[in-house]
Amino acid sequence: MKKRVVLHFPTGLVDKPIVYRLVKDFDLEFNILKAEVNPKEEGVLVLEIKGDDQNYKKGLAYLKSSGVKTQSLSEDVAMDKNKCVDCTVCIPLCPTQALEQNPKTLEVNFIQEKCIACGICIKACPYAAMSISL
Ligand code: SF4
Ligand code: SF4
Repeated sequence: MKKRVVLHFPTGLVDKPIVYRLVKDFDLEFNILKAEVNPKEEGVLVLEIKGDDQNYKKGLAYLKSSGVKTQSLSEDVAMDKNKCVDCTVCIPLCPTQALEQNPKTLEVNFIQEKCIACGICIKACPYAAMSISL
């Protein structure tokens, strides 16, 4: 299984090697899609986690027990090509470069593997071409 999850680290946990234990103790692989620490030293990490279903559940339970809040992300963000007019409004708003313009055709493409389902493009698109199922 492969899932995307947002981790919210309270102040004091940001510099602890908590995420590393997902690999060491639960045999999970992860890619960091986004990492931010705000001025209050609270952290937000968006991870794509791969591994066995049971290990994933145990890993998430471990994170929760360590004080990290977790939030699952849907992978169901989609672009309706019939509605999209390639206006490019969404491209600079996407934090992970999941929307890009083909320089030859000028068509705007959605790259789902990069999407962290933040919802920004969904609110911003004037043609309601982007949608999410939660
Ligand atoms: S803002 Fe909407 S219509 Fe414009 S390129 Fe993005 S998805 Fe397409
Ligand atoms: S929901 Fe839209 S803005 Fe957010 S990461 Fe996905 S494509 Fe980019």
